[in-house]
Amino acid sequence: CGVFGVYSREFNVSELTYYGLIALQHRGQESTGIAVTDGAWMDVSRGMGLVREVFRHQIPQMENQYIAIGHVRYSTTGSSLLANTQPLMVSYSGGKIALAHNGNLTNAGEIRRKLEESGTIFQTTIDSEVFVNLIARSRKVTVEEKIIDSLKKIKGAYCLTIMTEDKLIGARDPQGFRPLCIGRLEDGGYVLSSESCGLDVVGAEFVRDVEPGEMVVIDENGLESHRFAKAKPSMCIFEFIYFARPDSIIDGQSVHESRFEMGRILAKEAKCKGDIVISVPDSGNVAASGYAYEAGLPYVSGLIKNRYIGRTFIQPSQKQRDTAVKLKLNPVKSVVKGKSVIVIDDSIVRGTTSGKIVKMLRDAGAKEVHMVISSPPIGFPCFYGIDTSARKELIAATKTVEEIREYIGADSLHFLSLDGLKSCVPELNPKNMCFACFNGGYPIQQKTQSPAEADK
Ligand code: 5GP
Ligand code: SF4
Ligand code: MG
Repeated sequence: CGVFGVYSREFNVSELTYYGLIALQHRGQESTGIAVTDGAWMDVSRGMGLVREVFRHQIPQMENQYIAIGHVRYSTTGSSLLANTQPLMVSYSGGKIALAHNGNLTNAGEIRRKLEESGTIFQTTIDSEVFVNLIARSRKVTVEEKIIDSLKKIKGAYCLTIMTEDKLIGARDPQGFRPLCIGRLEDGGYVLSSESCGLDVVGAEFVRDVEPGEMVVIDENGLESHRFAKAKPSMCIFEFIYFARPDSIIDGQSVHESRFEMGRILAKEAKCKGDIVISVPDSGNVAASGYAYEAGLPYVSGLIKNRYIGRTFIQPSQKQRDTAVKLKLNPVKSVVKGKSVIVIDDSIVRGTTSGKIVKMLRDAGAKEVHMVISSPPIGFPCFYGIDTSARKELIAATKTVEEIREYIGADSLHFLSLDGLKSCVPELNPKNMCFACFNGGYPIQQKTQSPAEADK
């Protein structure tokens, strides 16, 4: 998911949130919502679909609005339904609160059971709802204390933007799995965004990232930082491989540079013989350019992507995903015909995409198809907000590289090594990153099943 928030007296906060969400659209395409306040009233508008579809006719507006938050959703827990859209908004004894969450909680089930036993009614099936209930029930006095009180009970991955009638609040879990950054507007107002590309689009200047275990509170006195937990950083490497936009900078590391480096290292490791390098757009583009640069081979557009189709992986069912690949990608026959083609993609999860691409390229006349993947095999499920699915669906959990090659029908198959991958984020210490879907080294002890397994 993607979260966004704006506090400004001069700018149209709901319009900026709308633009910010469009820039974060790649982080979730199932549903979206915007909440605004003028200090007295709070309003939320949510719907299923893309930001531009949901807000085609109007963006929520209030005459004296000065705070807004927004969300784009990619479901990992809870079905893709209108009831499960965000921001969530509730009224409680202390006023109104709206909340948008990116990530996946690992103890939401337990907390929910306890709250339900004591009479709390839940309106959605998403894990994020425990935040608002804990905040509303907290006995602390100020809203900041209530939020901190709640965050201390919650485990897992979360980046939050929260809005009260007079404050914009951002928080990042102690592991900092997902990104969240702070920007400044010309009028002195503030912006919170999952990725820095969201700041660029609204003309906000990057200030810094929210730190793992930090909560920032923005109100008429400016920005105040609260540390609610000791940082135990474990930034998700998959943000760099696939999830984030290449023009974003996360915790000081350019996503583009890390992806380009993945391609270069892959070229050194795979030493694959071929005539041309092509990418599986868009997620393979940057690594493919790095690969071609290092290998001294031409990088050409061998697959054309339909721009009007979203990320296929984000389609929740396998059948939807199958058709989506064909709708999304088509080979350029004149480019691949008679050639030995090196195809770069960012990852193999279930093997759906790669298998179809190999077949597509052969049908278009490619002489050889070499699949080269800019990440290691994904052998373990993610519990922290990326839908790499239940373990049994992960092709690398049950098959060797050679068996996967056979399954997808490629002439050869290469994956980036884990050490190679670790060297691609020089601004970050690999010790402070999560690689669990590749090596099973989960930073948080796991009691429950993966969200995907729980949904089955
Ligand atoms: P597969 O077809 O093997 O199941 O999935 C691999 C494809 O899905 C790759 O092209 C990759 O770009 C994309 N992908 C990999 N991981 C994710 C993810 O967590 N989310 C989304 N939306 N797409 C992913
Ligand atoms: Fe990211 Fe993988 Fe860790 Fe999940 S398990 S947070 S996808 S690195
Ligand atoms: Mg892809």
